[in-house]
Amino acid sequence: MTAALQTHESIIRDGRDDRDARSADAGSSPAEPLDRARAAAARVTDPEMPMLTLVDLGVLRDVAIEDGRVVTTITPTYSGCPAMATMRDDLQRELQDAGFEDAEVRVSLTPAWTSDWITEEGRKALKGAGISPPGQAPRHQGPVALTLMPTNRALTCTLCGSANVKLSSEFGPTACKAMYQCLDCLEPFQHVKEI
Ligand SMILES: [Zn+2]
Repeated sequence: MTAALQTHESIIRDGRDDRDARSADAGSSPAEPLDRARAAAARVTDPEMPMLTLVDLGVLRDVAIEDGRVVTTITPTYSGCPAMATMRDDLQRELQDAGFEDAEVRVSLTPAWTSDWITEEGRKALKGAGISPPGQAPRHQGPVALTLMPTNRALTCTLCGSANVKLSSEFGPTACKAMYQCLDCLEPFQHVKEI
């Protein structure tokens, strides 16, 4: 009995050692279901800004396994963002492809998403795509005053780096982006708004 137990333990231990060795090896696929679910969820990109994953955006808040089911939690970016339904479907599909048939996607509205949650990686990806990343989001205390004036932002041109830029439209191809133009090199570019 003791011998059998020891053998069993050593199998578990060996298996674990083997897994540790594999995960230390770059490029190997994670073996644990939670790791696989996280990796699958991390592959989902924003339908409007495909250079960003839901992780880069800070939209993917949690991936967990509850009673054998994968449960992911997402926080929508802009309220009423039409991309949200697509993100949800894409997340479910990606998890299904990874073998998690009955994955659940939960939506968490508090705390509200802020553009500050966009990761450094995400900001680099935006810049790489010629899109100006958001600056520090405004911190609101109490009621928010509605202003019809365009927001003043200190931006630099994504092409030449000049700070001599002007806002051409507060609404770009999507509501979450504003359009700017560089007055030096004339490059028009999009800016992800701070919220
Ligand atoms: Zn420029």
